[in-house]
Amino acid sequence: MRVFWPLVLLSLMIAPLAVQQGWVQVSPRLNPWAPLDVRQPPNLLTGYKLMRLQRDPELCRLALDSSVLRYTAVADSEPAAGCAVQNSVRVDRSAVQFSSSFLASCRLAVAYALFEEHGLQPAARRAFGQPVARVDHLGSFACRNIGNSQRRSQHATANALDIAGFRLQDGRRISVARHWAGKGPEALFLREVRDAACDSFRVTLGPEYNAAHRDHLHLDMGLFRLCR
Ligand SMILES: [Zn+2]
Repeated sequence: MRVFWPLVLLSLMIAPLAVQQGWVQVSPRLNPWAPLDVRQPPNLLTGYKLMRLQRDPELCRLALDSSVLRYTAVADSEPAAGCAVQNSVRVDRSAVQFSSSFLASCRLAVAYALFEEHGLQPAARRAFGQPVARVDHLGSFACRNIGNSQRRSQHATANALDIAGFRLQDGRRISVARHWAGKGPEALFLREVRDAACDSFRVTLGPEYNAAHRDHLHLDMGLFRLCR
């Protein structure tokens, strides 16, 4: 069969435009320009959709409102010199309780909501037959650099969250510091949670990364991609 390549190329160029302009209707899950719906399982477009939220507060709120997260809007500010907080919210609770509410860039909050619904809770149900009821965290915003470097941490813009452990519905506690190195179901669960976090967050670092992360999972939405 003879293929007329210029026509094939032209179709490939027009197809995205047709979707963007709404000339062709595709499911929102398959439309890169449709708002991110947290209830839908992540797919190949999720990373792109999360990236778009960074500069578009309105789009980000739409995504947030598709989740069960309860949050309070936070005005843009610079709490400390060189650490501006923009397009951010205070996350009060979700399907789980938090050890305390936390400040989060809107896209970090959306990534967290995706992680909880499609990664954390399914892993807890598989491992323990019950959901997580509470997430213990060590904070999100801190105006500081990474370790001893000159580079600003993602925490400096509330774009990172450190999770120390979980409490199940029956009160059982699972802690990164205590259970990571073990061989029990808790250790397996924590590894599954770390792997699942890699699907939602740009960076996921745990005890296997370095000693500074021996007691928590660092989750952030920075530029880099790292999963350790
Ligand atoms: Zn951290």
